[in-house]
Amino acid sequence: MIRNGWVLAVLGCSAALSSFAAYAQPGPLWQATTYKGREIGKLTGDVYYARSDDYVSAFMVTPDGIILVEPVGPEHATWLKGELDRRFGVPVKYVIYSHSHADHSSGAAVFKDTARIIGHEALLGLLAVPPSTTQLPQNQRAQDTNGNGRLERAEAQAQVAASFDFYDADGDGALSGAEATRGPLKLVTPPDLTYSAQVNIVLGGKRVEVIPIPTDHAPDNTIVRFVDGSNVVFASDWITNARVPFGPNITMPSELAKIRQVEALDFEHFICSHGRLGTKADVSANLEYREAVAAAVREAIAAGKTLEQARDTVLMSDYASWEFYEQQRPQNVAGAYRLLTANR
Ligand SMILES: [Zn+2]
Repeated sequence: MIRNGWVLAVLGCSAALSSFAAYAQPGPLWQATTYKGREIGKLTGDVYYARSDDYVSAFMVTPDGIILVEPVGPEHATWLKGELDRRFGVPVKYVIYSHSHADHSSGAAVFKDTARIIGHEALLGLLAVPPSTTQLPQNQRAQDTNGNGRLERAEAQAQVAASFDFYDADGDGALSGAEATRGPLKLVTPPDLTYSAQVNIVLGGKRVEVIPIPTDHAPDNTIVRFVDGSNVVFASDWITNARVPFGPNITMPSELAKIRQVEALDFEHFICSHGRLGTKADVSANLEYREAVAAAVREAIAAGKTLEQARDTVLMSDYASWEFYEQQRPQNVAGAYRLLTANR
C-alpha cells in the first residue's frame, strides 16, 4: 500500500557487501577545487541542489515537507535548514544518508526535531565503536610517539589532528585504537530507520526511491532517485562528474556492473555529491573512462609491460581535462593492472 511514509519494495539487488576499502577523498583536495560558496538551485520540478563549496546535497519539496539527501556537515545543515524554512515554509521530514563517511553524513541532528533519519543497516555497524581491544590502525601508529597505544591530541597529525574532536567519541582528549579505527563519526546521528533493500518514501504525493548499492567505496552506499518529471539521481563519492574517479579499484567488474545499474535508471540530472552538476551523460562517461582504462591496461599487459611501464604509458589523454587527472590517473591504471594480474 502506498501511503505517506515507509513503503518497502524489494529491488532484487543481490550485490554482496564488498570488503570495505575506504579510499577516503580527503577534505583538503576538495578545498582545492574551484567550486566556492553556498547556493541553492532548481534542478527539475520540485527538486533542488544545495552547495557548500565542493559539496552538493539535494532535496525535494512537497506540500507535506522536504526530503533531503546528505546533511554534509553541521555548518551546511544549519545554513540549509534556515534557507529551507525561509524559502519553502515546510519542515524537513526525511534526511537520507548516502553513506557513513563523516564529510557527508555529519550534522543530521540539526533536522532531528522534524525529520526521520534514514540509513542503510550497515551504517549502524560502521557507527558503532569497535571493541576496546582494537589497536590503532596501521597507518596511524607512527603518530603514537610515546608508544602508549593511544593518540593524544598533541601527537595527532594531518587529517587525524584536523578532525580530532570528531574521532574522540568519549571526549577524553586521547584517541583509543577503537576511536581511531571508527573514524571521525562523532557528529553522525544514528539513523531512526534502516533498510537493506530498496525503500520508497512517499510524501505529499511525491516519490523518492532509496536504493542501496554497496560499493568498493562504502558498504552502506545508497543512491537516491527523485521521481519528479525529468527525474534526478543522487549518488555520493562514487560516479564522478568530469572528475577522474578515486582509488585503485575503479575497474573492478562488480563496480562497472553497479554503474550500469545506475545508468539504466530513468533520470536526466545527476548529482555526485561533489563538484559540477551533471546529467546521465556524465554517468555514461564515467563508465566509459573505467572501461577504457581496463582495456588499455589489458593491452599493456598483453604487450608485456610491467606495472610501472603501464602506469607511465597508459595516459588516458582523452580525459586530461577532467579534474584530479594528474593525481588519480596513475592510481587508476596501477590498480587496474593489479586487478588484471592478480589471479595469474
Ligand atoms: Zn565517501
